[in-house]
Amino acid sequence: MISVIMPVFNEGPYIYDNVCKVKSILDDAHIPHRFCLVDDGSKDNTWAELCRLNDDLPNIDAIRLSRNFGKECALCAGLENAKGDAVVVMDADLQHPPEVIPEMVRLWQEEGYDVVEGIKSDRGKESFSSKLTALIFYRAFKRTTGMKMTNASDFKLMNRAALEAWKQLPEYNTFFRGLSAWVGFKRCELPFKVAPRSGGATKWTFGKLMKLALDSITAYTNAPLHIILWIGILMAIAAVILAIQTLVRFLFYDAAAGFPTVILLQLFIGSCIMISLSILGLYVARIYDEVKRRPRYLISEKRDDRLP
Ligand code: UDP
Ligand code: MG
Repeated sequence: MISVIMPVFNEGPYIYDNVCKVKSILDDAHIPHRFCLVDDGSKDNTWAELCRLNDDLPNIDAIRLSRNFGKECALCAGLENAKGDAVVVMDADLQHPPEVIPEMVRLWQEEGYDVVEGIKSDRGKESFSSKLTALIFYRAFKRTTGMKMTNASDFKLMNRAALEAWKQLPEYNTFFRGLSAWVGFKRCELPFKVAPRSGGATKWTFGKLMKLALDSITAYTNAPLHIILWIGILMAIAAVILAIQTLVRFLFYDAAAGFPTVILLQLFIGSCIMISLSILGLYVARIYDEVKRRPRYLISEKRDDRLP
């Protein structure tokens, strides 16, 4: 039995059809399944549609969060409440093609993989700026964490064992894509083509993406703190060299009028200090978030499937 988890945010107009489509594919492949749909505080008729699905079809659980907590938290709610021997996580807009799920299930059941990761073989239609920012983010992520995540996605199958391991990770700020790789287990990659959105527009804004990028890097690694240390050391060395050079010039030549040098140094050192402080601040903010021990999400309503 697999459980399909979908975070759903303002996808009212097509969520019903999308779930039916996934269901018919799984039925055709004779895969026993259920759904765990999480309404991430949608403002449209999404919750009504999820209730309708829950009434019309068997094996559909619906969870409504008390407000919009963001995709990562909606995923947590789904993962923590999912039943079944394995879970498949996918987007509700069907950009993760459901046709791939039977192959994921085959790899899990027949070849014994614990985790099957969907890898984007083609990123689909994307603006140039979003391609560029994704590239910069994944480069920075690889450099700082040593994990290769290029073209990784949230489209994954995890079996019970891997899921239970993931559930033990206590951090408040999660990054599903990264932390589900951190738990290890026997894993394989399955390429898929990103489909166009089934309707509506992307829910990500530049601000949300920027926050996700910083959260995921600081969630994963302390490397930026080491980078600060190295910048400091390099600057100290540069300062010593400059001091010696100035001394030599002062003793043997005439001392230069160094006004621009002073200003440049000021700017350079100033910006280094600001950057370092803000990186430290990010980590302190994380610690603050973690020690508050707030729940990652709050459920306002829950509809388990009707008994058969
Ligand atoms: N989503 C969510 N909460 C949010 C934003 C998005 O649950 O605050 C869900 C959304 O309903 C969809 C998935 O996350 O199922 C991916 O969102 P989207 O398609 O907007 O992102 P993109 O595919 O453009 O990366
Ligand atoms: Mg999408």
